Amino acid sequence: MLAGIMHQADKNFLKKCSIKPVPGTYALILQSFSKSKIQIGRWRQIDIVPGYYVYVGSAFGPGGVLSRVSRHFKKKKPKHWHIDYLRNFVAPLGVWYTHEPEHFEHRWARTLYTTDNMHPIQGFGCSDCKCYSHLFWSPFLPDFTTFPCNEKLRSYWVTE
Ligand SMILES: [Zn+2]
Repeated sequence: MLAGIMHQADKNFLKKCSIKPVPGTYALILQSFSKSKIQIGRWRQIDIVPGYYVYVGSAFGPGGVLSRVSRHFKKKKPKHWHIDYLRNFVAPLGVWYTHEPEHFEHRWARTLYTTDNMHPIQGFGCSDCKCYSHLFWSPFLPDFTTFPCNEKLRSYWVTE
């Protein structure tokens, strides 16, 4: 089943990745090295600055979290979501995720909103919900070990 969803370029990722092709919620950890203004589809421009970005989402379709994360990691793809436009300007470092069968992305977004040093980019990735944002910028590498959540949280880093 996965072969149909994944592309050739993802095979290495699949081989060494601990994420499972089952549904769940994730937080993508990205790094930005540059300062620039980028256009997010037809929505608006945002300023990106050096530092770290955290994007929360969930994947309840075929291939689950593995398929979605693999898609986020790829640069060349049709662009559907706000995050797809950001992707070409930042490097994915890893992902925090849970395979709990419930949507936690809005709760995680609220948690990040109240986390020290996390700065929300208003309206990003939340056209379909009432969150303030699903994207946050931090000057520091977000700390997996101190993220307060009751779900069984796992992490995957691209350096693994
Ligand atoms: Zn939300």
